[in-house]
Amino acid sequence: MTFQHGAFEITPVVTGTLGLDGGAMFGVVPRSLWQMAHPADDRNRVTLATRVLVARAGARVFVADCGVGDKNKDRFNEIYAVTHRFGGSTRKPPLVAALEAHGIAPDDVTDVLLTHLHFDHCGGATYRDGDRIVPTFPKATYYVQEEHWRWALDPTERDRASFLADDFRPIEEAGRLKRLDGPGPIAPGIESVIVNGHTPGMQLFKFLDDAGRVVFYSADLWAFASHLPLPYIMAYDLYPLTTLEEKKRISTQAIEEDWRVCFEHDPRFGLGRVETSGRILQAVPDAAPSEGADGEAVK
Ligand SMILES: [Zn+2]
Repeated sequence: MTFQHGAFEITPVVTGTLGLDGGAMFGVVPRSLWQMAHPADDRNRVTLATRVLVARAGARVFVADCGVGDKNKDRFNEIYAVTHRFGGSTRKPPLVAALEAHGIAPDDVTDVLLTHLHFDHCGGATYRDGDRIVPTFPKATYYVQEEHWRWALDPTERDRASFLADDFRPIEEAGRLKRLDGPGPIAPGIESVIVNGHTPGMQLFKFLDDAGRVVFYSADLWAFASHLPLPYIMAYDLYPLTTLEEKKRISTQAIEEDWRVCFEHDPRFGLGRVETSGRILQAVPDAAPSEGADGEAVK
């Protein structure tokens, strides 16, 4: 689905899926509470969509996050149950095939907004071209927060497996990297919001129309709509109590200002609004069907 939002024509695109341990996805929340909405496979993995957000405005084409990509070995793809929705036998990188299906060529992309450099967000930012690994969008500027860039170059033993240098080093080597120093405007109508609980310097994106209404790309702050209730914090988060405060602050704003939220990893629906039911936070899916991870139009 594509919709107009101020100057932006916005299309959430599911490039594929991966599977991560259900316990890790929901932290301290017992399986009995999440398994209905997120059934686990025989290896206890739940399905995550990799949903990138494409926003066209005049001559500029913005792409927020890039999915897993296809540089990784079979063993990696098996552990993480990686699937691609586009590309297949064409040998094109899955993100390129996904965007071409929406009428966008790699050279058309002018700006790549990276929330952070974990492999399921940044893997598709580069691809293997013969012996070399190169940026997927040769003419684009790739944006990442400076603090996060430095973290990704030297993560801890605990989060080292989430960063693969081939996903982001070639961007810098090609001179396409722009490091940002804190929150604020990136381009007309696009603002960066910084959170630090998941990983230092993760940025989330607000797309604003002329009236200040917000479409919000929530990355791993709310990976699924199911992460809206406050105790639902991923075990991957390095600073879970920081995440808790960030979730309180940002969900309050999302309700007050009636944001439309794009959930990057939600396998069931891509867009929704935040509300409270009793005192529990939840998402109300968009009335218009959006694309689920299985390729079906779902609410
Ligand atoms: Zn992450």
